[in-house]
Amino acid sequence: MKTADKLKILADAAKYDASCSSSGSSRKAAPDGIGNAATSGICHSWAADGRCVSLLKILMSNECLYDCSYCLNRRSNTVQRATFTPEEVADLTINFYLRNYIEGLFLSSAVYASPDKTMADMVDVCRLLRNKHKFNGYIHLKVIPGAAKELVQQAGFLADRMSVNIELPSEASLQRLAPQKSRQGILTPMKQIGEDFTGFQLERKKSRNAPNFCPGGQTTQMIIGASAESDLQILNLTEKLYSKMSLKRVYYSAYIAVNDEPLLPALLTAPPLIREHRLYQADWLLRFYKYQSHEILSPAFPNLDERLDPKAAWALRNFDFFPIDINKASYEELLRIPGVGVTSARRIVTTRRIAAIREQDLKKIGLVLKRARFFMTINGKYLGDRSLSHHHLVSAMCKVEPPVAKKLLHGGRQLRLF
Ligand code: SF4
Repeated sequence: MKTADKLKILADAAKYDASCSSSGSSRKAAPDGIGNAATSGICHSWAADGRCVSLLKILMSNECLYDCSYCLNRRSNTVQRATFTPEEVADLTINFYLRNYIEGLFLSSAVYASPDKTMADMVDVCRLLRNKHKFNGYIHLKVIPGAAKELVQQAGFLADRMSVNIELPSEASLQRLAPQKSRQGILTPMKQIGEDFTGFQLERKKSRNAPNFCPGGQTTQMIIGASAESDLQILNLTEKLYSKMSLKRVYYSAYIAVNDEPLLPALLTAPPLIREHRLYQADWLLRFYKYQSHEILSPAFPNLDERLDPKAAWALRNFDFFPIDINKASYEELLRIPGVGVTSARRIVTTRRIAAIREQDLKKIGLVLKRARFFMTINGKYLGDRSLSHHHLVSAMCKVEPPVAKKLLHGGRQLRLF
């Protein structure tokens, strides 16, 4: 089969993987090499369903030994199959790079022959790119669970970012929908990458000659809606992955039905995009707003409210906490006000060091007053409407939801770029 035909099959087969969006790496071009990696993300593009698919995003192979129920490439499906050689992937990457089509590579694979053989071929692609072609650009490599520890470590010395897909939020769902995979098999390489990442970072602080291991850190992807776990279970798992495995990002991928499979939700059901969106917002609260998963959800409220962003939902459930006076509140308290982001909270803290903030300063600070006014006072003055019942307050907050969420809620579809 010609390389171009393989590319068609294997680029299409890779489109369901959401676990890349930005590089997390920053590196200048070497004098005798080509390419560089930028922290702010490599050229992004968008798939037809609106999802970010940056880089040359391909599979090494779709000839899978496994039979995961939710996957188009599973062994039992009749689809066109292809496998690249390491040389083909390296040549394609370089050729695309030189034509300015891409700035890096996102390489994943189905498991062909064995996890070790698959991983070894992917490591060979990186070696060819780094050593033969002197490619200094961004490489994101998927790790194949079950591959030898040595191969995972070699990959870490060559790739900028790695990811092991957790796939489903519980062991029981893995057993049911991806019986050849296990939670332990997935967590083992994740733990190894996390430990090596931390270990080599420490080494590099002592000596600049210490090897750089996976400088962009690791990410993972979870499929949402293919199994019955609640958002609370998903967020609890996410929290553990961030704290125990040093993950940089958890990506949530709304389940897209590609197989007519009795174990899965019906084929015609639309992907749960609003749920995916709310989980990203809750994830943001965990990472940047110092929330804990048990604050966002609880056994009494195990799922995110689709009508409201999780921060507004928390504020409405904890209305006793408000109103907060923005000239007196701590930075952490400011972050709890819907409509106050990290940037505006920082600006409030800096500005009020010089003089108390006045109502007319709020716009300049970047505060979204149409949401924040219900939860704050300024020099003792409440800017909301005290006559509103809780029910009307919820409606008022739903009305000021950003357009993306409104569109997802009412149209049920993600916005398209073109
Ligand atoms: S391992 Fe499972 S998810 Fe991955 S390609 Fe094979 S069947 Fe698909």
